[in-house]
Amino acid sequence: MPIATTNPTTGIVERTFDAIDEAEVERRIAAAAAAVAPLTASTFAERAGWMRAAADLIEADGDELARLITVEIGRPIAQSRAEVGKCARGMRFYAEHAESFLAPEWLSDPSSVGASAAGTRYEPIGVVLAVMPWNYPFWQALRFAAPALMAGNVGLLKHASNVPQAALYLDTLFERAGFPAGSFASLLIPASGVERVMRDPRIAAATLTGSEPAGRSLAAIAGSEIKHVVLELGGSDPFVVMPSADVAAAAAVAVRARTQNSGQSCIAAKRFIVHADVHDEFLAAFSERMAALSVGDPLDEATDVGPLATESGRDELADLVDDARQQGADIAVGGTRPDRPGWFYPPTVISGVTPAMRLYAEEAFGPVATVFRVADAAEAVAVANATTFGLSSAVWTNDSAEEDHFVRALAAGGVFVNGMTASYPELPFGGVKASGVGRELSAAGIREFCNLKTVWKS
Ligand code: NAP
Repeated sequence: MPIATTNPTTGIVERTFDAIDEAEVERRIAAAAAAVAPLTASTFAERAGWMRAAADLIEADGDELARLITVEIGRPIAQSRAEVGKCARGMRFYAEHAESFLAPEWLSDPSSVGASAAGTRYEPIGVVLAVMPWNYPFWQALRFAAPALMAGNVGLLKHASNVPQAALYLDTLFERAGFPAGSFASLLIPASGVERVMRDPRIAAATLTGSEPAGRSLAAIAGSEIKHVVLELGGSDPFVVMPSADVAAAAAVAVRARTQNSGQSCIAAKRFIVHADVHDEFLAAFSERMAALSVGDPLDEATDVGPLATESGRDELADLVDDARQQGADIAVGGTRPDRPGWFYPPTVISGVTPAMRLYAEEAFGPVATVFRVADAAEAVAVANATTFGLSSAVWTNDSAEEDHFVRALAAGGVFVNGMTASYPELPFGGVKASGVGRELSAAGIREFCNLKTVWKS
């Protein structure tokens, strides 16, 4: 993929950038390595001050950044603005809590291990490479950067090639806010340049948010180098609706859960698994709301769904729907590529999807929902878990025994009851199965890239 800003609303390439050459990659890694000592020596209070200053900068630049998101990936502008606000909140969260999350822990009875004192302390591990996707170009990068920097680690960002201007903004953000030179930088390199960086002995660990193939590739390299890696990969999250639920509320939230960021969210609900008793009621309400969404210019405040971020993403989504249609699925809403400039795809609702269709197992990264009819809770769980992914999940029920059953039985990194999955700085975020390994956010996220050092004193 060329390193360029290509406006998805028009398909026009607005700016192109050259990848940095090997000498510049080397210079940036060296600068990162040189920043380890001053950052490690800084106090939590100093880092918290710099992190809050960075949050202030992000907020001050909010309108410009929201517009940039919308130009680079086509997200409706109100949602772009919300992303910027979420970034500032996440940064302030870690500024406030990092020290307590990483506080040393001492055994209350050290004599049990023959010591006068024994316990653990969290120490930074050095330079961490972050390979990030375009779909939340600031949030994805900052939910890594905020805990990493607060822990005293250094960050090197390889951002997606279609969000270079977001990458360049982040390149200077933390130094502008007061962090030591080299604490955080972007590498404008193609995906093919990641291996050289990952194998560099000055890189201690990596995190990748993106597709399963990219995750497998980086994990294989990390494995051969014996370096820690966190992976946040794809998802095909189930959204289960049972008869005791408020079906109208479920249908309304289902629309938001499926179409946030024009459907391009890893934690978007993608498969709607509905008990037979309320299936037709849900399908009718959901379809009506999906059909009523306004699709159009993402800079227009009234737009609900913009274009998809890339032409290839739009084409892959259309192929998934066409495959289902050809094999007999029922398209209740949408399903036809519009004849207009830009990479638009309409909100689409499909039922009658069978395991023979690609849509059954593959992730639909756009505003395409599949609705399944199930006979009972056991079948709902079976369909929900019949995927290689396991990122998050949602269940709508007002029966407490049923709720307990779903919370335990859904094979996912999260379960949201009578609501939709969202990420919060306060809660761990991550998946099981092919959705990834490790956790971001909360105390778990900041501890991922620390050396948990055991200390024992005679
Ligand atoms: P992608 O192609 O995997 O790209 C993500 C990042 O990985 C980009 O920086 C990309 O660089 C890089 N990359 C691609 N192939 C690579 C390789 N072989 N080795 C090293 N780096 C590589 O992902 P996408 O299609 O843009 O994003 C959509 C996917 O991300 C979906 O599956 C979605 O569910 C997932 N996602 C997951 C989460 C989560 O938190 N679990 C969040 C958001 C998105 P280039 O741009 O230069 O190719």
